Amino acid sequence: MTLAPWSLGVFTSIDAGLGVKLEVAKELGVPSIQLHTPHADGRTTEAAQRFLSKLKDYGIELTCVFGGFDGESYADIPTVERTIGLVPRETRAARLAEMKEISDFTRLLGCSVIGLHVGVVPHDRSSKDYQEVIEITRQLCDHAANNGQAVHLETGQETAEALLHYIEDAKRKNLFINFDPANMILYGTGEPIPALKMVGHYVRSVHCKDGTWSDKPGVTWGCEVPLGKGDVDMRAYLSTLKEIGYTGPLTIEREIPQEPERQKAEILHATGLLEQLRKEILT
Ligand code: MG
Repeated sequence: MTLAPWSLGVFTSIDAGLGVKLEVAKELGVPSIQLHTPHADGRTTEAAQRFLSKLKDYGIELTCVFGGFDGESYADIPTVERTIGLVPRETRAARLAEMKEISDFTRLLGCSVIGLHVGVVPHDRSSKDYQEVIEITRQLCDHAANNGQAVHLETGQETAEALLHYIEDAKRKNLFINFDPANMILYGTGEPIPALKMVGHYVRSVHCKDGTWSDKPGVTWGCEVPLGKGDVDMRAYLSTLKEIGYTGPLTIEREIPQEPERQKAEILHATGLLEQLRKEILT
């Protein structure tokens, strides 16, 4: 199956409580999804086959599998620094090993992209810690390359400039970006449109998510809101995606899994908004 340019998608999960369930993606009628990885006991050959046969039934294409780990928490920005991704030192080796397993599971799903929040990358490029994070990034990229996959870094925890340095220092041809404009605002790491222009040549997948700035950017969270209601200028976002030559899917992310009915309604509204903008901008 080949997706049309800017095919709509939605962020889903099987058991992680992020995004929506696959059945909701089907009800929404979107042609593509990204999937948050299931927990370790759900990453079996049988589970992969079950999932693939559902995808086939629903006519949905899987475009990226996101890694995630037990013990991660997005409670507030300091907690993110302490718990998210491959960066935290205490869990670094174990999570690298698990991310490689997620890459293997992704291969079972026939998908050529894994994504992740790598965590808050150390800022001092000359530090030993930074070099170690670069080294595990290389190991992950090399493992993924053996599975025929690219690695997409979710944006937000770094400024665009820091992310560019990090990718360039890692020196791996399969390392790219999953651009999330709302995260730049939520984390207070910069205006998303100039950031997208700066890193555009590395962007291979995107999230369509919206948010509002915190009154203390970078210290406290901004607020995630329904698409079109926040500080991401969606028209400028899509125009910039066109400008950088991006033709991949537009994957809607709305993280209010505690309110599934509202989540579904808001995603449905987002699909309408994006379809309208796509019509105006892409053609
Ligand atoms: Mg995102």
